[in-house]
Amino acid sequence: MKVWIDQDLCTGDGLCEEIAPAVFTLLDDGLAYVKEGDVVKNDPGGSAGMALVPEDLEDAVREASEECPGECIFIEEG
Ligand code: SF4
Repeated sequence: MKVWIDQDLCTGDGLCEEIAPAVFTLLDDGLAYVKEGDVVKNDPGGSAGMALVPEDLEDAVREASEECPGECIFIEEG
């Protein structure tokens, strides 16, 4: 599973980071970004902003995507 965020729609509420801090992080610009391990994918849009999700975190990422107020967490299964 891969995940990315459309920062144009992010409200910066931090819900995703609360649900899955290993995958989502808020940066100084007040917006959420995905990360892969310690590497933050802070290039908005495109494949550079996409992170591979470890299997044990997939459920949390799905939950974050469902709860996201901006509806801007996008999952690519497979
Ligand atoms: S839950 Fe959605 S809107 Fe809120 S900070 Fe995360 S990506 Fe942004």
